[in-house]
Amino acid sequence: MLIVMKADATERDIAEVERRITELGFRPHSVPGPSRTAICITGNQGPVDPTPFENMSGVAEAIRVTKPYKLISLDFRPEKSVVKVGGDAEIGGDEMAIIAGPCAIESREQAFEIAESVKRSGARFFRGGAFKPRTSPYAFQGLGEEGLKILADVREAFGLKIVTEALDESGVDLVERYGDVIQIGARNMQNFSLLRRAGRSHLPVLLKRGLSAMLDEWLLAAEYVMSEGNYNVILCERGVRTFAQHTRNTLDLAAIPAVRRISHLPVLVDPSHGTGHNYMVMPLARAGVAAGADGLIIEIHNHPERALSDGAQALTLEQYDNLVSEVKAIHEVIAPAPVG
Ligand code: PEP
Ligand code: MN
Repeated sequence: MLIVMKADATERDIAEVERRITELGFRPHSVPGPSRTAICITGNQGPVDPTPFENMSGVAEAIRVTKPYKLISLDFRPEKSVVKVGGDAEIGGDEMAIIAGPCAIESREQAFEIAESVKRSGARFFRGGAFKPRTSPYAFQGLGEEGLKILADVREAFGLKIVTEALDESGVDLVERYGDVIQIGARNMQNFSLLRRAGRSHLPVLLKRGLSAMLDEWLLAAEYVMSEGNYNVILCERGVRTFAQHTRNTLDLAAIPAVRRISHLPVLVDPSHGTGHNYMVMPLARAGVAAGADGLIIEIHNHPERALSDGAQALTLEQYDNLVSEVKAIHEVIAPAPVG
């Protein structure tokens, strides 16, 4: 159920509707928009009776929601969401977001050398895993909290916002201490306790698409985070498993317009994990921006041949510089993607 308030509804009208929803044992989620406030009801198992709301002061209409998702949808919020990061940066606004950095933080020297390039490129966000979800338990697992401390120092030294993965709920506690955006990886897209914990965080959440996730499953994972009260969710298309052998994953760029039609959330593209090959990152980055992505997340390395993880897909710092100028040029010529 979605309660749409009249344009002239007062704060008191809104508070009354919220109180009534709580009284019924449900949870209200209010989103003020430029023209009206919408209050979404979650926590109900079946349909909610609209009658108690219809005659309340300030209520324009009570709409039954028949889709499986509510908070992620354009019905709830018809305007695109702009997610604020660390006070003065944003994702989903007019400026294209570029998140760049190594797959994993390997050392202070490595992180600082790469961060210098990221800063110089004009990007606002630095990525790097301190906790790595590796297929093999014997592969490099990341530096753990030590890596997060290095990331916090990068933030301090360069003013870049830190995007880093939490593998579990205790990882969220740590990212909250040292980072700016909680990344939830493809392998964890349906880790529901992790999604709920991230939903109670004050930090934005970058939610990667699962390796074999359908669009609805991905959007419902975002719904998990939002249902706990954290509306700052950024989606990231990073490729899915198909029969293709020429790429690590198949980057599904059609997901961008597909998401746009349903959701107000920003969508990023990850051409690094989406292809797995250095030489494919640039063409797919260009295509992602051309398809209307709100930004890119790119793996780069000062010595890709020596990288402890994902070296094959890492761009050199020079390649990264070229990529930024190319995608900026593309972003400038394409009109902002219409919502809906
Ligand atoms: C990563 O960003 O390094 C990562 C592990 O990504 P994904 O979860 O998309 O595989
Ligand atoms: Mn990686």
